[in-house]
Amino acid sequence: MQVIEKVDQMRQKTNLLRNKSETIGLVPTMGYLHRGHLNLIEKSREQCTKVIISIFVNPTQFGPGEDLDKYPRDFEKDYKAALESGVDYIFKPDASEIYGEDYRTFVTVRGLNKIMCGSSRPLHFDGVCTVVLKLFNIIQPHKAYFGRKDYQQLVIIKKMIRDLNIPIDIVECPIVREADGLAMSSRNKYLNDKERKDATVLYRCLKTAAELIKNGNTDIDKIKKNINGIFNETPSVKEVDYFDFRDPEDLTEIDDIEKHLTGKPGCGILIASAIRIGSTRIIDNIIYKPDRALT
Ligand code: AMP
Repeated sequence: MQVIEKVDQMRQKTNLLRNKSETIGLVPTMGYLHRGHLNLIEKSREQCTKVIISIFVNPTQFGPGEDLDKYPRDFEKDYKAALESGVDYIFKPDASEIYGEDYRTFVTVRGLNKIMCGSSRPLHFDGVCTVVLKLFNIIQPHKAYFGRKDYQQLVIIKKMIRDLNIPIDIVECPIVREADGLAMSSRNKYLNDKERKDATVLYRCLKTAAELIKNGNTDIDKIKKNINGIFNETPSVKEVDYFDFRDPEDLTEIDDIEKHLTGKPGCGILIASAIRIGSTRIIDNIIYKPDRALT
């Protein structure tokens, strides 16, 4: 496994790999790898002959006052995990390597960037799209792997791919959870013991909402009231940023569950939420489908 820090070197390497007819899989990450990331790597290994992961804590996707400086980093541990998972190259550039002096160009997927997480993080998705497009241009992978944990990100990237005719397959991977249901995230490290225990409330609420729908309760206001009751009983929950019911394909808000389920059979309902546990913001989602078990 080789670690590459420079854009030119990375590009030369992938040109060479392409000329040798290798299939290149890219797994973009911000490091501090956990099983969620490793699952993406494993999928990429199954489908591609060479696997590249990027480790880059992207400054443009953090807003002022967010956790850019304290975002967890442990390259030694990541190196070991990547090596053991069969990664071929780690692309680990500095911020100055990616954003040169007087950097001005950003990618905006209009509308989708301002809803859900975008309403409290208005520049976040522009930063994500910009860095992902840069990684795509530098590495030119055949396939790129993203987790459904960041569902809105996934929909936005797929939209960017279509809108800009980018010739890369986006492979979606399922959410990997801790034994008690909490979705794995590098940010879970911020949680103290009490907060960590209480953080399971998010998945419980998503499942409860899906179960209510499954049992025929389709009044969104009533479901939200029920869910708020559960959040309110959990002292570590300091804020519910959003708890939304949306179309999983285009993220439009669903205001009539029955109409949506009959009007778009098979589409399902994305139930997605972001809450603040102590000072840590966590996100999660599930997709409800009438004919499928809840996961
Ligand atoms: P991050 O390092 O948090 O930017 O995440 C890098 C990639 O890993 C993104 O595509 C995430 O959606 C994915 N990812 C992070 N956590 C999980 C998880 N628990 N399950 C599945 N994918 C995940």
